[in-house]
Amino acid sequence: MLLSRTELKKLEPNIEARAGLLSPSSGIFDSHTLLKFLHSQAREKGAEFVFGTEVIGIERAGAKYRVQIKDRDGISALVAHVVVNCAGLNSDKIAQLAGIDIAKAGYKLHYCKGEYFSLNSKYRNLVSRLIYPTPEQVGHGIHWRQALDGRVLLGPSAHYVEAIDYEVDETYKQAFYNSAKRFLPLVELEDLAPESSGIRPKLQGPGEAFRDFVITHEEKAGFPGLINLIGIESPGLTASLAIARYVGRIMS
Ligand SMILES: Cc1cc2nc3c(=O)[nH]c(=O)nc-3n(C[C@H](O)[C@H](O)[C@H](O)COP(=O)(O)OP(=O)(O)OC[C@H]3O[C@@H](n4cnc5c(N)ncnc54)[C@H](O)[C@@H]3O)c2cc1C
Repeated sequence: MLLSRTELKKLEPNIEARAGLLSPSSGIFDSHTLLKFLHSQAREKGAEFVFGTEVIGIERAGAKYRVQIKDRDGISALVAHVVVNCAGLNSDKIAQLAGIDIAKAGYKLHYCKGEYFSLNSKYRNLVSRLIYPTPEQVGHGIHWRQALDGRVLLGPSAHYVEAIDYEVDETYKQAFYNSAKRFLPLVELEDLAPESSGIRPKLQGPGEAFRDFVITHEEKAGFPGLINLIGIESPGLTASLAIARYVGRIMS
């Protein structure tokens, strides 16, 4: 629903904007609780989980795949009819291990880091909705969120990096402040503190046009039973159940 500045001010007096777009059904959920729930549901249905285990090789074994794994007991292997590669930041490397030419397939991933800064407790309940500024070219802009535990967060930023490193760089503080100040004039620089970060697996490199998730059964490439999920960035979590249903359909 399109809101004029006056309508927006009635809903969120502390937010400054020329206009707004109200999405009454948008919200947040606790990802850890969701994952714990899915974990217990899957176990009840007979799924087995082997945490702390790294896939280090995949080779064809007739109509099946021999997946080589490494854990604290050493290296072993399992044989599977179907392999679903959903290894996030490593999904391009896993596809390569299975024998896919990732340069030709366009699966090479680029790392795009997103940092969060928190605001101190005086900002609690100052704003009652998620606030998204208009999207930027790489990410969807530094937005405002009050987490379910009450913490007030700004982020995520979006910038390409060469290596995986989850350190939150304090030098971004000013940029976060400038960005938040545009829609929340009350914000003060000294109230921001580094919080956390994540890294997106993007299919498009810097300056390239947007590319959607790859979710594909590699039958045509000569790999029946291999399902690749590459470049699953936001909204991959929100869409996770729909993605799982889709994968279930294409693997049968
Ligand atoms: C800053 C940021 C903000 C985001 N915000 C949102 C949001 O608001 N809403 C939303 O819907 N999504 C959001 N996302 C995206 C969301 O987090 C991802 O889409 C989602 O986590 C993808 O899930 P996945 O299972 O495909 O990959 P991942 O969650 O990355 O899981 C991949 C798994 O594979 C494992 N793995 C990797 N290599 C190997 C190997 N060799 N052997 C064995 N295991 C391996 C990893 O350890 C990991 O457990 C955000 C992401 C970032 C970085």
